[in-house]
Amino acid sequence: MLQDRDRIFTNLYGFHSPDLKAAKMRGAWDGTKFLLEQGRDWIVNEMKASGLRGRGGAGFPTGLKWSFMPKQSDGRPHYLVVNADESEPGTCKDREIMRNDPHLLVEGCLLASFAMGAHAAYIYIRGEYVAERFALQRAVDEAYEAKLIGKDNIHGYPFDLYVHHGAGAYICGEETALIESMEGKKGMPRLKPPFPANMGLYGCPTTVNNVESIAVAGTILRRGAAWFSGIGRPNNVGTKLFCVSGHVNKPCNVEEAMGLTFRELIDRHCGGIRGGWDNLLGVIPGGSSVPIVPAEQIADAHMDFDTLRNLKSGLGTAAVIVMDKSTDIVRAIARLAYFYKHESCGQCTPCREGTGWMWRVLNRMAEGRAQKREIDMLLEVSTQIEGHTICALGDAAAWPVQGLIRHFRHEIEKRIDDYAANPHSEAVMIAAE
Ligand code: SF4
Repeated sequence: MLQDRDRIFTNLYGFHSPDLKAAKMRGAWDGTKFLLEQGRDWIVNEMKASGLRGRGGAGFPTGLKWSFMPKQSDGRPHYLVVNADESEPGTCKDREIMRNDPHLLVEGCLLASFAMGAHAAYIYIRGEYVAERFALQRAVDEAYEAKLIGKDNIHGYPFDLYVHHGAGAYICGEETALIESMEGKKGMPRLKPPFPANMGLYGCPTTVNNVESIAVAGTILRRGAAWFSGIGRPNNVGTKLFCVSGHVNKPCNVEEAMGLTFRELIDRHCGGIRGGWDNLLGVIPGGSSVPIVPAEQIADAHMDFDTLRNLKSGLGTAAVIVMDKSTDIVRAIARLAYFYKHESCGQCTPCREGTGWMWRVLNRMAEGRAQKREIDMLLEVSTQIEGHTICALGDAAAWPVQGLIRHFRHEIEKRIDDYAANPHSEAVMIAAE
């Protein structure tokens, strides 16, 4: 269990003020100048040694990502872009950081930018996050006023930080679509390569990091890589914000040690599963884009990148969506399919056509109006979308469908049988509503 002294986000619930004075009392901006004086390489190496893996979903090592930025500028400026476009259904962790502990993020931006030779950073915030934008802007203004950042600041490293408000498109959470959007264009993902570290924002070397990845940097550097890497399990270290929603008694956001078991997470922080553990149907452990894991596999699984990948799912953003046996699982996945259909930017044919096709078929299956052979066809189409698109939205749309068929094929078949036996039965009519 994570000890209180090891928590990074000590104001996650907003019990205290988010302002600069209170943030400093909680430890933010403590010794930042000293950290900067250790040099760029020291910061990157310390982040590498900490074992921090990106908190935006992919789990790519943060220190390694920072090291991809050119060591010397070729004349072009370097940029840090913070991805605060938190749009993955189920995910609500970054908003708490921005609302309640924004100075950890502002300080992290300075440290990360220094480590990558960037004198300007942009935080791209989700369009719907209006209150969060105000809170974040307030913290940025305070930092400017106190000369913690700015052209002529007390740290001796000229640095500007801008908050950029998006317009609410899910796809802008994809790093290259986010860059396009910031440049004033439609938020459509770019083909890679070139990668942003070579050619990102305005054609300049850019690193895009998640809010949580940047906000933990200051505390990691202050307390040392060994402290952070000592928490959790091998290759899956540190603390992590989990957002638990759905059929638990007390849905919550909580910072915990990476790799605790699902049962510990739910019993300790969420008051257990609604109706008891026997009532658990399945869990989407990492935001809507990762496949569902059935109850018997998830109950005692470690909540970390590697364990969940071995279960053919993923930790993603650690947005844990719990579903009990009252869930109409086919309809739930059909609803997610609709989301991805709606959010597809339309550039790639498999995604543009396939997401809508999958949604329509799943909708019929939820009512039982389908043939059993269509289940395999649906699976086949999902594999034709997966890995055949410019960005990961194609995968994100395919994986929940694959998870449904892998674990709940019997449920789809039962609906088809029920419908065939009695197309006008009450159960079928309810499912069709
Ligand atoms: Fe757009 Fe979908 Fe292609 Fe991504 S996969 S670029 S969202 S069409």
